[in-house]
Amino acid sequence: MRSTATTTLRDDSYIGGRWVTSTAPERCRVIDPATEEVIGEVPAGSAADIDLAVVAARSAFDDWAARSPGDRATMLAGLGPMIDEAAGELIDLIVAEEGVPFTWARDVHLGRLAVNVAALPALAEQMPPPDGIGQSLIVREPAGVVGSISPWNYPLGFLTKVLPALIAGCTVVIKPSELTPFSVYRMTELIDRLGLPTGVFNVVVGTGPVAGAALAAHPGIDMCSFTGSVRAGQQVLVALAANVTRPVLELGGKSAAIVLDGAPFEQAVRGTLWNCYMNNGQVCGAQTRLLVPRGRQDEAAQIAADAARAYVPGPPADPATMLGPVANAHQHQAVLAYIRSGIDEGATLVCGGPDRPSGLDRGYFVQPTVFSDVDQDMTIAQHEIFGPVLSIIGYTDEDHAVRIANNSQYGLSGAVWAATDEEAVRVARRMRTGQVQINGATFNPLAPFGGVKQSGHGRELGKFGLEEFLEVKSIQL
Ligand code: NAD
Repeated sequence: MRSTATTTLRDDSYIGGRWVTSTAPERCRVIDPATEEVIGEVPAGSAADIDLAVVAARSAFDDWAARSPGDRATMLAGLGPMIDEAAGELIDLIVAEEGVPFTWARDVHLGRLAVNVAALPALAEQMPPPDGIGQSLIVREPAGVVGSISPWNYPLGFLTKVLPALIAGCTVVIKPSELTPFSVYRMTELIDRLGLPTGVFNVVVGTGPVAGAALAAHPGIDMCSFTGSVRAGQQVLVALAANVTRPVLELGGKSAAIVLDGAPFEQAVRGTLWNCYMNNGQVCGAQTRLLVPRGRQDEAAQIAADAARAYVPGPPADPATMLGPVANAHQHQAVLAYIRSGIDEGATLVCGGPDRPSGLDRGYFVQPTVFSDVDQDMTIAQHEIFGPVLSIIGYTDEDHAVRIANNSQYGLSGAVWAATDEEAVRVARRMRTGQVQINGATFNPLAPFGGVKQSGHGRELGKFGLEEFLEVKSIQL
């Protein structure tokens, strides 16, 4: 690695326990979304880099798989204190490369990761023991070599899947997003210090169409754990089909929060706006559709506009900032186009809009935006915007609310606000989605997370996440 005053230049990947110079001559520029300045370059990893990494993971597999889950967990648990020690650096890197507000990077990006790392020894104890059915012995075995492809919105989020894969006895090749690679490099330096057997953990930085596609198409992987957009997930599925490689897909979302009559209304509206604007509006499970009784849309709009005023776009490194820029130029243009489509299709713009926030003449900043009178079939009600844009939709009765919530190609998350938990759970059971939060309940980083419909298939986190990386074998006696 070379560092100049303002940029970091890397040309390597982590393969077989060593830093290996990429065979690719091309580089990817990394841009700070708050300033639009180049902060570094990383290799556009090649198919040859991926091949080396898969070969390394393959040759490490038998030994790693033969160890006990407890031994594997003990080695990996050493990461906890290292993350604590490097937390400041990791937070700064995430803030610089993604534009996430400092407090969010600290409390959520690092905070949830710490919970997952702390839970590793307990997770190892949740490996399903051998079971008997008639004369058969049923055992679970590691799925094999796992290719992991991850997005930019939680650059270290890949660990929430990769750590369970490692506990299960799999070896891994990771292709992180080339847009947010520096926190991943730093984390890999920490993982290198764990002294895992050579080839158990490999990282190749590169673009989706080259390195990602080469990983998905590689016959040497047994499973591909992909997190990202539906578009790229579909391409990955096609590539996996060539070798009938097993997929786990965590894709996009357009989650609905249903506010029932009798719910604490102001708390529900404010809570949903907060959820929609988390991580600068770039969370796959964000509740971006707020469903309220039709007669209360104006009231909801007023509360939301009032709450949105707190989200003054500003420099993400400032601990007071609650809304940073969206992560890249492409994202910026896409979010602004969605806001314009909301106006053009006749939704009421309550606050925000497509103009630059005042006082910010550079950076990919978007005004905190709220639309009301949104029709359930409008573009802003159907597409994943991935920016700070909330759509308020009116419903006539509970059945109508459930129909609107389910009128989506996605099914990742959602919420119900009601007078009682019983009422809320009854409605939650009618929603076609992978997770539902009741009356503002907090996210549980150990409960299964994943989607239905085009939000993907498979689950991550906790014991369900572990079981994704196991195969079942029947031994007939
Ligand atoms: P993206 O799909 O553009 O990229 C995700 C990853 O896939 C990147 O590493 C990219 O390089 C790679 N990639 C792109 N094209 C590929 C191809 N043809 N073959 C192989 N790999 C390819 O997504 P993004 O813009 O980085 O992230 C935002 C998306 O991720 C949103 O849709 C969001 O909802 C989704 N996401 C989902 C979850 C979840 O758990 N469901 C979590 C985070 C993000």
